[in-house]
Parts: sequence; C-alpha cells; structure tokens
Amino acid sequence: MMTRRAVFLDRDGTLNEDTGYPADIRQVHIYPAAFEAVRLLRRAGFATVVVTHQSGIGRGYFDAAELEALHVGFREEFARHDAPLDAIYSCPHAPGPSGDECSCAKPLPGLGLQAARELGLDLGASYMVGDKPDDVLFGLALGATPVLVLTGYGRTAAAALAARGIRPAHTAGGVLDAAAWIIEQGGPSGHGPV
Ligand SMILES: [Mg+2]
Ligand SMILES: [Zn+2]
Repeated sequence: MMTRRAVFLDRDGTLNEDTGYPADIRQVHIYPAAFEAVRLLRRAGFATVVVTHQSGIGRGYFDAAELEALHVGFREEFARHDAPLDAIYSCPHAPGPSGDECSCAKPLPGLGLQAARELGLDLGASYMVGDKPDDVLFGLALGATPVLVLTGYGRTAAAALAARGIRPAHTAGGVLDAAAWIIEQGGPSGHGPV
C-alpha cells in the first residue's frame, strides 16, 4: 500500500487562538498564518491531519453534532483559502473522575494510529505540531517528529518539557515557521529539497 507522509496539527493554540471551549465556528479565530502553513505543507506532499482534544463534549459544554458542525465550518475556511485539511480527528472525552483516561486523548497515540490506518500514513516520516507537552509526547508516541510552537500554551510547554528533559525536534514561533522547518527537512518522499 502506498503511504503518505503527514503533518499532524493540534487545533487550539496551534491553528487558531485557544479560547477555551468554542461551541461554534464564529467563536474560532484561525491564525492567518495557519492557512499559509497548510497550503505549503500540502504543496510539499504532506497530508494535513488535525488531532484535537475536545473535552467540551465530555464536560457537557457542547455536543458531538455541534462539534461536527464547527469542524465542517473549520474545514470550509481552510478549503476557501486553498489549504484543504485531509481530516480532523477528535477526542471528545473529559478526563475521568478517577483520573483514568480514554485511549484517544493525547498523549496516547490512538487518534494518530486511527488516522494512519484510515489514510495510509507513514508515521515514521510524519510530524506532529502542537503547543502543549501532550502534543510533543503524542508525536513521540507515534514515532513521528514532534515540533513545538510558541503560540497558545507553547511558552509554558517549552519550560515544562525542559524541566522533564523532553526535547521537541524543533521549536517554532508559530505554525508557519513549523511548516517551513518541516519542509526544509526534505525526506524520503523526495518532495522537499535535498
Ligand atoms: Mg493546543
Ligand atoms: Zn478520548
């Protein structure tokens, strides 16, 4: 089976401002640089796959249909900017009362493994871009290359990761810088520069 390289992208704090628990696309401010980042990554041959924890469902702030509608609007915005997203995978669960977790919340690799199965992705040649320690750990759990962005909670995350001795492969100011760095790495698909 042909496999594609992917860039997994966190949503809140990475592609759009992290405003808590938006229930409607009108509450979502997508960073203009995110459109350019996705456009460049697609042009370089990467699948662009959003992986997001939306515990607002588990917490009862909005339901699955509202999140689905928000994500339809989100994908339409990217498509309108000539930057289509390949897929959005969400974990809807709130952390359990006893602290036990589902199998799809980052940093567990569930959503990434599902995406790899459904989209035919080469995880070892893929990247994960996000603003929290769990995003970096998710990338590592998948065997992908983790990139931290300093938007959203990125500055706090950088300090937290350093304190734990965990290093992302790269730290970028934002998602567009992350995309540029990823494309610079080149890689087995031959889409990037040698
Ligand atoms: Mg985030
Ligand atoms: Zn989950």
